[in-house]
Amino acid sequence: MSKAPTWLLHVEAVLLDVDGVLYRGREVFPAARAFMAFLQEQGIPFAYVTNNSTLTARGYAERLRQRGFPAEPWQVIGSSETTAHLLRQRFPHCPPVLAIGEVGLTETLDAYGFPLTDRAEEAHIVVAGMDRGITYEKLAEATYAIRGGAVFYGTNPDKTFPTERGLAPGAGSILAALQAASDRSPVVVGKPEAPIFRLALERLHTSPERSMMIGDRLDTDIAGAKRLGLRSVLVLTGVTQTPPPPGPTSPDLVVANLAELLELWRSLHLASEK
Ligand SMILES: [Mg+2]
Repeated sequence: MSKAPTWLLHVEAVLLDVDGVLYRGREVFPAARAFMAFLQEQGIPFAYVTNNSTLTARGYAERLRQRGFPAEPWQVIGSSETTAHLLRQRFPHCPPVLAIGEVGLTETLDAYGFPLTDRAEEAHIVVAGMDRGITYEKLAEATYAIRGGAVFYGTNPDKTFPTERGLAPGAGSILAALQAASDRSPVVVGKPEAPIFRLALERLHTSPERSMMIGDRLDTDIAGAKRLGLRSVLVLTGVTQTPPPPGPTSPDLVVANLAELLELWRSLHLASEK
C-alpha cells in the first residue's frame, strides 16, 4: 500500500470520473459505495465528472442511484451539460444548433434554450458528440454548416471507448471525420479541457487548490486536473493498469482502487484525531 500523503487531510471537495473508477459495465468495484458513504460522512461535497455525452444529467444520476451511489442531477457534470452551459455563456441569444449526438446532447441543448435544426443553412453552431445513429447525411449537413461559417464544438475528445468486443469509435472519431471534411478544428469541451473541471468546481463552490480529481485515465482525468491545479489520484481499476513512471505529468497519488484510497484517507483521519 502507498504511504498516505498528508495533503489528503486538506481536501475539501472531490471530483470523480465514473467508468473505471466506481464500476466497469455492470461490475461495481469493491468499496466504491463505501468510499462515497465516507465522503458523505465527512461532509465532503463531490461531483461526478464524465466525458459521456449520451445521457442527460438526470439520466446519469438515475443510473448512478440504481447502482447504489448517491447522485442528484446537479452533481453530474457530463460533457453535454458542460457544452450547453458554455454555449449559453458564449451565445446568450441561443442561435440554432445543428447537433450530432444522442438524447444526452439534444435534450440538454433544448433545456438550455437552444433550438435544434438539421439544416446546415439554419445552423449557427455545430456541436458533435457520441452518436450511435450517425449517418453520412448528418456528417454532410454538419460539414456544410461548418464550411458555411457555423462555429464548431465537440463534447469530448475520446477517440475510442472500451466494449466487450474491443475498442469502439467514440466522439473523437466523429470529430475527426468532421475535421477532415471541414478543414476546421472543433473547440473541445470535455476532459482534459478546462470547462468541465471549472463547471464542477463552480457547482461545488470550491477552488482547484482545495479539490481532488480521481480518475483512471492519464490523458484526460489526470492531465486535465494537473493543468488546473487540482490534486489528482489515479486508480488502476480502469484504462491504466500499471503505475506511470514518476514525472511532471504523473498523478499526486496512485492507488490500486478506491478501497486503498479509502483506507489511506481513514488512517490519516484516525492519526490526526489522536
Ligand atoms: Mg474513466
